[in-house]
Amino acid sequence: MEINLKPALDEQKLDQRLKRDFQKYQRKQLQNALVDLLPQRLIPVVISLSAIAPTKFVHQITKEERRAIIKTLRNLKMTVLGPRSLSEAIVTAGGVSLQEVNSGTMESKLIQGLYFAGEVLDVDGYTGGFNLQAAFSTGYLAGESAALKLSAKVH
Ligand SMILES: Cc1cc2nc3c(=O)[nH]c(=O)nc-3n(C[C@H](O)[C@H](O)[C@H](O)COP(=O)(O)OP(=O)(O)OC[C@H]3O[C@@H](n4cnc5c(N)ncnc54)[C@H](O)[C@@H]3O)c2cc1C
Repeated sequence: MEINLKPALDEQKLDQRLKRDFQKYQRKQLQNALVDLLPQRLIPVVISLSAIAPTKFVHQITKEERRAIIKTLRNLKMTVLGPRSLSEAIVTAGGVSLQEVNSGTMESKLIQGLYFAGEVLDVDGYTGGFNLQAAFSTGYLAGESAALKLSAKVH
């Protein structure tokens, strides 16, 4: 796997950005000069992969070393060893196709009176509340819609 850590900047812009940071932190060691560009824990990784001593002073960094940093930032290589175990999983990808569900009521378009909500739907997002929100919202809508239909039948 190859990751571009700075997709918004082309090579030239990234070089300019680095030069600006190096100007700002010219008296610091390289390990303390990338704080504006990278999360703290990524700094030693990027420096090590660029084969530069972290204690090297910024004003001593050569053009080639700057190039090496840019290459690492734009082409971070990682090896995928395999998926994590199922016990660590947090959401199911796949499920009932949204095309077969009325999004205004969560009722199946194929079977009347059948409603879907949450994990059973083909909806999945990153962790951080998206899946819980999807489950709450579709659950609420499905419940309200089913109750409404039922009360309409009763009356
Ligand atoms: C470890 C973990 C961490 C997570 N972290 C996050 C997170 O940080 N943010 C986020 O947004 N989402 C997170 N999720 C995902 C989120 O919890 C789910 O997407 C959400 O709870 C789905 O809600 P649901 O009601 O559709 O399904 P569920 O919560 O799975 O509820 C289904 C219920 O149905 C019951 N059930 C199953 N079969 C039957 C049956 N035959 N008869 C009767 N009852 C039955 C089950 O016991 C269960 O209580 C996480 C999930 C896990 C597992």
